[in-house]
Amino acid sequence: MAGLPRIPRSRDDDLAPAAVAERLQLAERAAGRALEHLAGRPVPPESARGNIENLIGFVQVPLGLAGPLAVDTSAGPREVYVPMATNEGALVASYSRGMRLVAAGGGAKARVVREGLTQHPMLVYEGLEQALAAVALARASFEEFARLVATTTRHGKLVRVETDVLGCRLLLRLVFTTGDAIGINMAARAAELVSAELARRTGALERYVHGQDVEKRANARAAIEGRGRSVVAEVTVPRAALAELARVTPEQLVAIQATYRAGFAQLGTQNWLVQAANGLAAVLLACGQDVAYLTECAQGQLDFRVTRDGDLYASATLPSLLVGTVGGGSQKGTAAECLALLGCLGNGHANTFAEILGATVLAGDLSLMASFCSLEFVAAHERLGRNRPVDGR
Ligand code: NAP
Repeated sequence: MAGLPRIPRSRDDDLAPAAVAERLQLAERAAGRALEHLAGRPVPPESARGNIENLIGFVQVPLGLAGPLAVDTSAGPREVYVPMATNEGALVASYSRGMRLVAAGGGAKARVVREGLTQHPMLVYEGLEQALAAVALARASFEEFARLVATTTRHGKLVRVETDVLGCRLLLRLVFTTGDAIGINMAARAAELVSAELARRTGALERYVHGQDVEKRANARAAIEGRGRSVVAEVTVPRAALAELARVTPEQLVAIQATYRAGFAQLGTQNWLVQAANGLAAVLLACGQDVAYLTECAQGQLDFRVTRDGDLYASATLPSLLVGTVGGGSQKGTAAECLALLGCLGNGHANTFAEILGATVLAGDLSLMASFCSLEFVAAHERLGRNRPVDGR
């Protein structure tokens, strides 16, 4: 890998204009382009067309760099600075430390292991017999439905039609690939066409295009079947690096994870990652994504085990990353600059972006678990993340 320099920090005043400018220049060199909107040039209102109504301006959220993050992706090895927009002091520092642990293990490996944006229209019939007849027709009509979808989008492709019967209701699970977009607009339009055609030909009494509404809510279906891009990221961190950089052992991390699992099982949560929402919210916000998908994106599994050599194997599995490098707000203003910094702007980069997100989540969870083990978590927040009101109370 290229060997990106460490992110410079000033001991005197890390927010002084010179310190900020030095990091911005580093980011511009890494992106291979000027980052003028990140540097403060206003984004033209016109650029928000299609993204907002009743525009009055643009929100400013502090943006920091974490990294460098070394990750082997499906597009080859990458080393990147990860842009994170957040108001949570200590968050960027925590992810950066996790990325140092990842680097000590030779970098993470991350892959999209499954791809498929789903839509779940529901059709209602008089009874089971009519619903089952519609199931048969839906299954026999895949080729025809795929052709129908191809009339509305060049990049969205229908790849599967699955069915479930709930009493007199037929639940369709339409699975699409969506190129480099999240693809929700293209899939919603396609689901409208397919479900209307099936309803017309089977005499459905009612049709609901968002019949089973999985959208923007954590749900068991997304956790098990995946939605969008499913990513696994892994790394093996040497025992010595854990001791030096985080003052923990592999055994301590495995033990704390067992404790978390007991707690999560009692809570009944499907999210067994520890701070995925933190890192994902910060990168999604920076990169012009639809952050409401965080509810689906931030669920998954964290796995630690001690290797035969006594090192730590760690993996993060994220079944439902709904992200894109084309469409939505991804190619506009500061978002385009942040995606360029990741080398992920535009066509051909959505899987790499998802894989970088997976490795970022892994780094953050490693760092947080280590800080819980070494009892450094509260101290780090006291030092980096307190904002007492300006009147001093
Ligand atoms: P989009 O911005 O609506 O569409 C992406 C466009 O890019 C399409 O016109 C597509 O062409 C084109 N395109 C060019 N190169 C592409 C490539 N390599 N891969 C994919 N597309 C490419 O994006 P979207 O992802 O479908 O929808 C995301 C937006 O929908 C977000 O703003 C999100 O907030 C919003 N949203 C919609 C719903 C809904 O239910 N409709 C729900 C939640 C959020 P083709 O169309 O010819 O393929």
